[in-house]
Amino acid sequence: MEEKRDMMKKVPVREQEPLVRAANFEEVCLGYDEAEAVAEAERCLNCRNAKCVAGCPVSIDIPAFIQEVKEGRFEEAAKVIAASSALPAVCGRVCPQETQCEGQCIRGVKGEAVSIGKLERFVADWSREHGFVPAAPEKTNGKRVAVIGSGPAGLTCAGDLAKLGYEVTIFEALHEPGGVLTYGIPEFRLPKEGVVGPEIDNVRKLGVKLETNVVIGKSITIDELMEEEGFEAVFIGSGAGLPKFMGIPGENANGVFSANEYLTRSNLMKAFREDHDTPIMNAKKAVVVGGGNVAMDAARTALRLGAEVHIVYRRSEKELPARAEEVHHAKEEGIVFNLLTNPAEILTDENGWVRGIVCRRMELGEPDESGRRRPVEVAGSEFEIEADMVIMALGTSPNPLISSTTKGLEVNRWKCIIADEQNGKTTKEGVYAGGDAVTGAATVILAMEAGRAGARGIDAYLSQR
Ligand SMILES: Cc1cc2nc3c(=O)[nH]c(=O)nc-3n(C[C@H](O)[C@H](O)[C@H](O)COP(=O)(O)OP(=O)(O)OC[C@H]3O[C@@H](n4cnc5c(N)ncnc54)[C@H](O)[C@@H]3O)c2cc1C
Ligand code: SF4
Repeated sequence: MEEKRDMMKKVPVREQEPLVRAANFEEVCLGYDEAEAVAEAERCLNCRNAKCVAGCPVSIDIPAFIQEVKEGRFEEAAKVIAASSALPAVCGRVCPQETQCEGQCIRGVKGEAVSIGKLERFVADWSREHGFVPAAPEKTNGKRVAVIGSGPAGLTCAGDLAKLGYEVTIFEALHEPGGVLTYGIPEFRLPKEGVVGPEIDNVRKLGVKLETNVVIGKSITIDELMEEEGFEAVFIGSGAGLPKFMGIPGENANGVFSANEYLTRSNLMKAFREDHDTPIMNAKKAVVVGGGNVAMDAARTALRLGAEVHIVYRRSEKELPARAEEVHHAKEEGIVFNLLTNPAEILTDENGWVRGIVCRRMELGEPDESGRRRPVEVAGSEFEIEADMVIMALGTSPNPLISSTTKGLEVNRWKCIIADEQNGKTTKEGVYAGGDAVTGAATVILAMEAGRAGARGIDAYLSQR
């Protein structure tokens, strides 16, 4: 490392070269080594009124863990983070730090914010590689709680309750646990065996049981869990896995996918690997509709499977909801961004397969109810993009299966479960909920915070019984 360095700038993180990584599914970002992590930690001012903590939804004591890194005490740093987060290796990789902790960092006022996310990732990876295991509770209190869904909300709720001595069983519909971390976010951003698996194992090591292939509402209902199976409380962390479509002509054509289906085939069912039989479409030219993390992940997966990829998004670059790092990486890898562009129709050939997409140019008008400027179509601006695959990444909503099979559980008009933000309490006694099932599609860290709130609510409820 250079002797004199610019303390206003982040220690750069090593990454795979764009042209190399565009052809493989290995992780893009390689993270800091020990010397780089200590050097980056030295940029932290250890502020007395640390704004970064206020920007973190789970309030990690950021200056305290960075101070430990500065002094080379990585296990102590891991303990500080573990007090607030059960999934640090995940969060260090996928949290939108630029709008959270790093967005508030005092260093960022005159220079570049401290790389809090990359430091969190370093500490989490270091502690995993050095066998640091969270402490399990000495004995249980004999009270049984069921958690539905093994995404970040369910895992966090289960882990927190287990630490308090509850006997927790997670019921997961899919054959692998992890929720979106496993089936949605691709390997090149979040390795499954190396990162997600060990963090789920840490929750298991706290004594949590995990039952996969159980679809609550089909295999067994919440009422049966509580009335017949002896669970005294239930936390619902079933996410928002139901994809939305636009309703434009041609959307039923062969070669149109929801991003969820496409990513599930690739990530969970390993379709991208030659030693797996799961089919996936290897398109020549793909159009991905949407501008969030899901759209970036689908686009970058299609690129790695050999397609030329265009993103079509109806607002401008400033409004792209994806993490800045993902947009940057997608551009570096050669994804073409068609901004201020809206699909109008999907064109098909004589056999019903996609052959292109008709789009219209947009311009930004007055702000809408979300505060963002409303895109308005430019008259007579229709044009075609050639494509043999279209992936719709327009957002998702909660699946109504659980709400429709549980007596007294109320949902709002978007089918989101109604629950108290502070403690996850729903309209049904003993049933708590949090994460995307309550808010609609959001972020990993907000789901974790909701899981934590649900654990607090359940503990308060069961402590009175
Ligand atoms: C492709 C993609 C990329 C993303 N990228 C990011 C990112 O970079 N950063 C970020 O912060 N967020 C990102 N997100 C959003 C984030 O992953 C979610 O907000 C978060 O995972 C929600 O957590 P959750 O626990 O509420 O639900 P989920 O992660 O969806 O987990 C819910 C689990 O419940 C299970 N389940 C559902 N119904 C039932 C049932 N009836 N019975 C039993 N189990 C059931 C599901 O199978 C699933 O495993 C991304 C989302 C997607 C789809
Ligand atoms: S705001 Fe930035 S500089 Fe201050 S304690 Fe937090 S990370 Fe360190």
